[in-house]
Amino acid sequence: MVTTTELPDIRIPADLLPADGRFGSGPSKVRPEAVEALAAVSRSWLGTSHRQAPVKAVVASVRRGVHELLRLPDGYEVVLGNGGTTVFWDVATFGLIEARSQHLAFGEFSSKFAAGVVGAPHLEAPTVIESPPGTHPQARPEAGIDLYALTHNETSTGVAMPLTRPAGVGPDEALVAVDATSGAGAIEFDATEVDVYYFAPQKVLAGDGGLWLAACSPAALERIGRLRASGRWCPPSLDLGIALDNSRLDQTYNTPALATMFLLDEQLRWLNGQGGLEWSAQRCHRSAGIVYGWAEASSYATPFVADPAQRSPVVATIDLDAGAVDAATLSRVLRANGIVDTEAYRKLGRNQVRIGMFPAVEPDDLATLCACIDHVVEALA
Ligand SMILES: *Cc1c(COP(=O)(O)O)cnc(C)c1O
Repeated sequence: MVTTTELPDIRIPADLLPADGRFGSGPSKVRPEAVEALAAVSRSWLGTSHRQAPVKAVVASVRRGVHELLRLPDGYEVVLGNGGTTVFWDVATFGLIEARSQHLAFGEFSSKFAAGVVGAPHLEAPTVIESPPGTHPQARPEAGIDLYALTHNETSTGVAMPLTRPAGVGPDEALVAVDATSGAGAIEFDATEVDVYYFAPQKVLAGDGGLWLAACSPAALERIGRLRASGRWCPPSLDLGIALDNSRLDQTYNTPALATMFLLDEQLRWLNGQGGLEWSAQRCHRSAGIVYGWAEASSYATPFVADPAQRSPVVATIDLDAGAVDAATLSRVLRANGIVDTEAYRKLGRNQVRIGMFPAVEPDDLATLCACIDHVVEALA
């Protein structure tokens, strides 16, 4: 039997509502301008061949756009394929890790990659360094490690980490591979500190899910070539060498979602047109200041991540005093008012809201959201 608790009938006044009610952490808000641009070209775009010039030109634009946005040094290449970040973990398990990896596990996503590698019969047992939810661990230089797996922004807990190579470990010795799914394009980093910076379009890049993209350094490209030549078996759909060959031809090995590709290109053009990574990072920093500042000043809300230096500028996790409000009820009331996806990450099990502050989200809308939360909490009391 399904039981539902009755939802309090609270209507937020229209003049208090944000212009756009999407605050999810992924898929996240897609800019209406991008959707309109897609609608405008739909008859010559949707339902056309991905092997023909118009689609290849957009794939080329995506690869160039990523290069520009991430300020990749010469010699780095943008590789892409189908399946999203989760599939890229399997791609990396076959095509990037030579024998032994070290993983920083500090939330749902970083732990999943580590768990997948633990089960791989062709690899040695990885080192997994954990830290409590709401913090991040540090990589440790370690003999025998050929790939360090970091996460730029742990979307499940709202923790971001700076990206640096482990002390004294050069790219010839070990690759640094970074899951940047929810950080790429919104958090500053130095590409020379990483070898594989991979992500998917449904977060900062305001597209839809289903693709993976990986910015690969010369050392990473060398590793891809070497493992490919080693004769290690790899399913073709997960073969990074095949993906690289296809990417160089501005195509994917198998059919991509054309709408996703288009929306991704639109967002890259928008971000680069506004001022690139510096602009995007500043905008998210401003948004984060609004949300964390509200929580710190509030009598019932507290940023979950205690160390301000580790707080994500794109995904805010805010604990709520259970005596003041039940977070699940709050999120349901917000949803009934058109404000969606503020729910906490389930497995964290906290009385919490989680708020996406990606560049597509207007900082003013985040200020309005905070006011709406105050309004609902007061009405519930
Ligand atoms: C969303 C997310 C993923 C999963 O991405 P998919 O494309 O759904 O596989 C992985 N890692 C991080 C950090 C994420 O935020």
